[in-house]
Amino acid sequence: MVSRHVGSCHCGGVRFSVNHEVTELTTCDCSLCVKRNAVMGKVPEAALSIDQGQELLATCQWNSMRAVHHFCRRCSIYVFHRKRAAPNHFGVNIFCLDGFDPNSLPVRATEGAGMTLVCDRPRAEWPGSRAREPEGRNRY
Ligand SMILES: [Zn+2]
Repeated sequence: MVSRHVGSCHCGGVRFSVNHEVTELTTCDCSLCVKRNAVMGKVPEAALSIDQGQELLATCQWNSMRAVHHFCRRCSIYVFHRKRAAPNHFGVNIFCLDGFDPNSLPVRATEGAGMTLVCDRPRAEWPGSRAREPEGRNRY
């Protein structure tokens, strides 16, 4: 089942849509997600489209520079980010989705803090989601 969500930043300048059924929410204990108090839904990149305000989207990258965090340069709200461990997916700020009930889905705590060190020998290929890596968390 595919469902469609529309979302926006606080000022409404950035509007986006998600054509994907979000089935799980995650938090992350990395230093950035903790400070922004993020609760996220994982969405394939093809399922997310920016409908308005592309020019307002600013980006933040740090540490490994793999994750790309997008926020509105006018109101500063984090809207979504390209995920570090699954770069063909976005993590979407579910509080930006219109009418989305954050209590409607289970929340899983993920371990981003274990990923925060820059590796001096990064892999050429990123292995993808930790959900498909049952041997444990990625350490790079
Ligand atoms: Zn805004």
